[in-house]
Order: sequence, then C-alpha cells, then structure tokens
Amino acid sequence: AAAPRSIAFLSKSIAMDFLLPAYQAQFPGSRLLLGAELQALLDAGQHDDIEVAVCWHPPAAQLSQLTQGAGLQLVQSIAAGIDHIDTQALPASTPVCRIVDSTMGYGMTAFVSWAVIHRQRHMDRYVAHAAQRQWREESIVAPSRHRVGIAGLGTLGQGCAKALLAMGYQVRGWSRSAKQDLPAGLEGLQTFHGQAQKAEFLSGCDTLVCLLPLTDETQGFLDLALMRQLPRGAHLINVGRGAHLVEADLLTALAEGQIGAATLDTFSAEPLPAEHPFWQDERILVTPHIATRTDPRVIARQTAHNFSRIRAGQAAEVAVDLGRGY
Ligand code: NDP
Repeated sequence: AAAPRSIAFLSKSIAMDFLLPAYQAQFPGSRLLLGAELQALLDAGQHDDIEVAVCWHPPAAQLSQLTQGAGLQLVQSIAAGIDHIDTQALPASTPVCRIVDSTMGYGMTAFVSWAVIHRQRHMDRYVAHAAQRQWREESIVAPSRHRVGIAGLGTLGQGCAKALLAMGYQVRGWSRSAKQDLPAGLEGLQTFHGQAQKAEFLSGCDTLVCLLPLTDETQGFLDLALMRQLPRGAHLINVGRGAHLVEADLLTALAEGQIGAATLDTFSAEPLPAEHPFWQDERILVTPHIATRTDPRVIARQTAHNFSRIRAGQAAEVAVDLGRGY
C-alpha cells in the first residue's frame, strides 16, 4: 500500500504522542513529526515530504505553513467532526477526512442510552437514596410513553436511535435532508427534516439529544427559542459540540422550569472552568467530553485507507463536504 513519506501531528490543545505507536505500526517506513522537530522543519520551509497532516485543533499557522509546501495530500481529523480545523486556510483540492468508526458509534450509543435512562428512570435519585440506605421507589414511566428526539441522524444519531428503539422508547429524529430507506432496526423511527419540520420535531421531545456536527448553520442551535419549543421540563443532552449550546440560555430555561435537566459532555471552553455555574446546579450533569473515543489503531488504519485511495486517484470515502461544513 502507498505510504506517505512524512506524517505531521498537529494540535494546540492535546499532546498527540498517544497516536505514535499506532502510526508507527501502520506506517513503518514513514517519518512521524510533531512538536519542536516539526516546527523546525516548517520554519526552514523543509516540509515538502509531509504528505499527511493528522489534526485535532491544529494551530492555524502550522496548517497554513504546510499548505504552502508541495507535499500535503490529506488532512486527517482524528474525530468524527472537522469543526476544529480552519478549513478556509486549505486549498479546495486537499481532502479533509473524518473518522467513521463502529467502536466510536457503540461508545456514543452507550453514553446516550445511559444519559436518557439516568434521568428518565431517576437513577440520579437512587444514587442519592442508596447513599442514605433508603429503600425508596420512584415513579416508573414506560419507555413507550417517553419521547426521545435526536437532532442529527448521521452515523452516530442513527446508532443511538436504533438502541433506544430496541429498548422501547418512542424515537424521532431530525436531519437536514429527508430520510428514505432507513436501515434495518430503524423501522419505528419518526423522521423530520429541515427548518420547516423543526418545530413539530421539537414539540415531541421529552428528551432532546444533540448529535449535530458544528457548522455555521448549527452554531447556537440550542438556544432559548428552541428550548421553549420543547415540552415543559424536557431533558437536554448535548453530545455534539459546546458551541451548539447558548450556555446562558440554558440557565434561563432551567430557572423558568422549561428545561428540567441537562446532561452536557461538550462545552465552549474545555476544560470547563471550576467557577462555571454549570458545576453548581444539580440538574446539570457535566461529563468531560468523554461520550466516546476511537482507538488510535482505527485512526491510523483509516488514514492509510484514505491515503491509498488519494494516491490511486480515487476520492477518499469519508472526505467531508467543505461547502456544507460536515
Ligand atoms: P454525520 O455527518 O454522519 O451526521 C450529521 C447529521 O446531522 C446528519 O443527519 C445531517 O443531516 C445532520 N445535520 C447537519 N447539519 C444540519 C442542519 N443544519 N440541520 C439539520 N440537520 C443537520 O455525523 P456523525 O453522526 O458522525 O457525528 C455527529 C457529531 O457528533 C460530530 O460532528 C461531532 O460534533 C459529535 N461527536 C461528539 C463526540 C463526543 O465525544 N461528545 C464524539 C464524536 C462525535 P443529513 O443526514 O441530511 O446530512
């Protein structure tokens, strides 16, 4: 299989060396570059050998230096989203690929199922009762009477929908385009699409799960106007991106009783600062952007697959459409 001469690892927010063993195994003949060694090559303009940039919040300056060389053929996001990459700086001819992975899907399905059940079955209260050695039953509402809405019916949203349907929940989903011929397991899914059907979708979400990609259109999606269209006391789960949520609006909606609870995994500023009001409200459950992960070996394998296709003159299968932003 074709292998890049050099691969650069770019991030301003995390140490990328956890990826190196998997990339060494996948690309034994390639030079892997990060940190000071990478910066020195970029500064010296000696980066024509760098054919792949593996990115998580890549520094804009490094990415733009790389695009000025002759070598770059693939920008590989290590995540399902590409919102962390400033794609404006990239030439249109450079494909940007995202990760689509079943283990990432299973992780998200598990997290979302847990978050739905945790509130819908009052598991938070049982944890408190157990700490007091109290044998106390809370009300039980059958899943068939609880409506879960999933905004974003892509790879991850559909996986969650399938699991929730299998547990007997009433599940509805909302996407940009109409969904026809849904795969097996989604027969009971009620689908809505576009702005025209958004209000109708929202009006039937006792729990709303945000699994949208972050784009110009979806930024600030979870605002007060949206929250007021949900049934009173709804549970909001945000596993998309922090910038989907207007944070101050959630506090207002909680104060009004319009939102009953929120489970939030992503935030505008991560880590969430210790003084942030979200930590103080027991109706808000904060998790530190852990809804799911992808095995580094899968990321390396998908990079290899994408690079081989590009080398062979074929389109990369998971290249994002930069025009629509996901
Ligand atoms: P996909 O690209 O497969 O699916 C995106 C879905 O969102 C599609 O159904 C799409 O509609 C819909 N959508 C996009 N824009 C709009 C819009 N303007 N209005 C209505 N619907 C819209 O993405 P994935 O399922 O793979 O991932 C979704 C997101 O989940 C990622 O982008 C990332 O932000 C987040 N994520 C979070 C993680 C975490 O740990 N918290 C981990 C992994 C991902 P259509 O079907 O019509 O194209």
